[in-house]
Amino acid sequence: MLGSDSVEQMMAMPFSGKLIRPLIRELAPYVPGEQPRIKGLIKLNTNENAYPPSPRVLAAVKAAVDGRLRLYPNPTAQPLREKLARLHRCTPENIIVGNGSDELLAMAVRCFVEPASPWVRRSRTRVQYFSPSYSLYPVLAEIHGADTHSIPLEPDFGMPPIGRLRRDHNWDFKAALTFLTTPNAPSGRTYSMAELEALCRAQKGVIVLDETYVDFARENALALALKYPHVLVARTFSKAYSLCFQRVGYFIGAPLLIAALQKIRDSYNVNGLGQIAALATLDDLPYYRANFRRIARARDHLSRGLHSLGFQVLPSQTNFILAQPPKFSAREWLGKLRERKILVRWFNEPALRNYLRITIGTPADMQELVRAVKGILRRR
Ligand code: PMP
Repeated sequence: MLGSDSVEQMMAMPFSGKLIRPLIRELAPYVPGEQPRIKGLIKLNTNENAYPPSPRVLAAVKAAVDGRLRLYPNPTAQPLREKLARLHRCTPENIIVGNGSDELLAMAVRCFVEPASPWVRRSRTRVQYFSPSYSLYPVLAEIHGADTHSIPLEPDFGMPPIGRLRRDHNWDFKAALTFLTTPNAPSGRTYSMAELEALCRAQKGVIVLDETYVDFARENALALALKYPHVLVARTFSKAYSLCFQRVGYFIGAPLLIAALQKIRDSYNVNGLGQIAALATLDDLPYYRANFRRIARARDHLSRGLHSLGFQVLPSQTNFILAQPPKFSAREWLGKLRERKILVRWFNEPALRNYLRITIGTPADMQELVRAVKGILRRR
């Protein structure tokens, strides 16, 4: 994936556009949150964990930096799959590890969806998802030449009930691939297990329950991936386990789907230090569970604080909140907070334009944020 800078640089390159497939020429790439290097910046824009990896993880990674770097890593991340299988009470054949869960989401599109063609039934070429949710899904579909099928969430970001999905929303129960972010990003809200199971039962094609933020939530849908042959659950070490930098994610699901994904995997898709970091993470889960509790406390505290300052804060079960700010537009708030060296995320799209998405930081970061908000409200 390319940041907007590099896309602009590439477009300025002096080669003929004809060298590039029209589909790629016209592709609007995924735009990740900024990663600016500003001294003293409080970075609350990309849902990274507020806390570093456990000291045992850092020690394991440091100890592995030696002459072994010349060797290829384990191609299937076998030791990690074994350890994950013990944690999730399944078998290694239920698990595939990726270079971040992003890689696996892309592989799911390549594995289960036909590129659009007049000779293929529409459902077979469809990647379906709710809006707003993770904005990478349509980009992955477009890269593959598949069709995108976006269904709006309710105004409160809830999921329309199945009857209404069928009646009013043109939901495709036969879509080749459905992505469902749960808890949802960027709304932060969860769906009930009953809703998720009802959707899984009704869906004929593959459904990926993207549980990137689930460790911050009260419930998870892992059981559905081990119960239904067409359901995959996506997990990642990035957010809850403070390992964005190392790029390790995984899917859990029926061995048939997992084996199909294994066939199209790059030979050494998960880097060696990432595998080592993830293995060491699983040896120190109490450290992370304490962080989840800290983040949940800071989230609830911040939500109350912002609410008392006139923000409408949606209930969140993730490490971020979505909040509608008072007095100024969300876009203006983005700028005003940035002037105070606090970076949050604003999405310029109709359903989200009035909101800020704010990653939960340390209690000190959150205090600084509330102080900045009070300052902005005073100076209007
Ligand atoms: N799904 C969602 C909903 C996300 O927000 C992210 C992170 N941007 C990912 C998947 C990908 O996470 P990673 O590739 O770091 O595992």
